[in-house]
Amino acid sequence: MKRREEPRGSRFQNNKEIYTAGAILGLLLVSLIFGLLWFELARREETLARPENNRYEANGDSVIRGNIETRDRVVIARTDTDNGAETRVYPFGPLFSSVTGYSAVGRTGLEASMNRYLLTSSVSFGDLITNDLMDRKSQGDTVVTTIDSDLQHYCYELLGDRKGSITVMEPRTGKVLVMVTSPTFDPNTVKENWEALTSPDNDTGILMNRCTQGLYAPGSTFKLVTAIEYMREHPDYESYHYNCTGSYTLNGETVLCGDGSGHGNVDLEHAVAYSCNAAFIDMGLSLDIGKWGALTKELGFGDKLLRELPGAASTFSLTEGSGLFEVMQTSFGQGRTMETPLENLVITSMIANGGVLVPPYLVEYVENTDGKVSERFGPSPGTRVITEEQAAYLKRSMEAVVNYGTTPQAASPVCQVAGKSGTAQYASSFENMHAWFTAFAPSDDPVISVTVMLEKGGYGSTDAAPLARDVITYYLTR
Ligand SMILES: [Zn+2]
Repeated sequence: MKRREEPRGSRFQNNKEIYTAGAILGLLLVSLIFGLLWFELARREETLARPENNRYEANGDSVIRGNIETRDRVVIARTDTDNGAETRVYPFGPLFSSVTGYSAVGRTGLEASMNRYLLTSSVSFGDLITNDLMDRKSQGDTVVTTIDSDLQHYCYELLGDRKGSITVMEPRTGKVLVMVTSPTFDPNTVKENWEALTSPDNDTGILMNRCTQGLYAPGSTFKLVTAIEYMREHPDYESYHYNCTGSYTLNGETVLCGDGSGHGNVDLEHAVAYSCNAAFIDMGLSLDIGKWGALTKELGFGDKLLRELPGAASTFSLTEGSGLFEVMQTSFGQGRTMETPLENLVITSMIANGGVLVPPYLVEYVENTDGKVSERFGPSPGTRVITEEQAAYLKRSMEAVVNYGTTPQAASPVCQVAGKSGTAQYASSFENMHAWFTAFAPSDDPVISVTVMLEKGGYGSTDAAPLARDVITYYLTR
């Protein structure tokens, strides 16, 4: 008997329907997975941005808040339990408060931004079940920072009672090694002292992290930014010349330079080394303000720079409509342009790093109590701002600052330091001056960059520079 032939294509037809249904289901599944992933990622970002996330607060019922530790595994925040009562303990008092923040009356610092991780326990499933059955809380994950505990301690003692900050980073990786800000608070006693800390009479900014939130006129440290823009717009920058007679006058506006005796004929290196206001006004007036503004954005202005901590955004004040006097003032770091110490450190590190800007970061990884890493943050890729040749030229100019220029005080006995001082006048009074020194070392193979900022602290060269030098010397010899 002849087998009845199936109409050709019907099998295909059936399969086609199955394939179509399958494809639709597959698509639905994929979009569901993507949706969930997206939700998870969006929520993570949101959690980082919005510290008081109730979703994770509820974890506190089953999780003991995790530790915050330094890169060398010193515990700087932990939770002690005593008969069910939990106390957040900061074993070093105020020493690391700029990093940890507090978890008491609300949360700040890493306690806020890393809340989700501290209230998550990635112990094994078995442990989780056992703890649950025994009605025991699981230990929250540990947040491991990039902070160098020993160097932090050294800088804290060095800054002492002065009002200001010391910020240190590794220029190649962006790891923040030190964040010291003064005056500061003891996170152990925030709750008890809350009224005094937040009283309107307390105008010391004691709860503020001056490294990331302090905005100051950058003074002559801003000459580095003017120099960078000048180099980018003038490929023949190595043949730059200006004859400084001790002041600069244009349209009835006069700016004094140095002691008024004049720096004579300077090239770009000497202009940086002697911090010649007149030469920088001359350079600044030749610049395209739009491009100059774009450069400051590339350098991080307009951004808080460190996602783990609250921060202020540095501001470049010039616009196409700015008056002549303001352009002159901004060229050498006065005027209304404002920088955070961290921004100054990032610019310094970019020069140290051969022209590549590496974003700073503060948290290295998160791990569970068995040492298993659940999330790693690590260095971000860098972006090139200037060529290697331009960076090398600036590096030589910053060595010149120390070797024959304004700041011999920054010379370290152990290595060549490259740096720039700044003394920023504010509130139009000569008595009110902020002292800056920003540096890296050893200049031919930089492993450390430092920015010292002293509020109402005198002069960059005599007051801030010796602290930067001591930090460098200590780091390279300890
Ligand atoms: Zn001069």
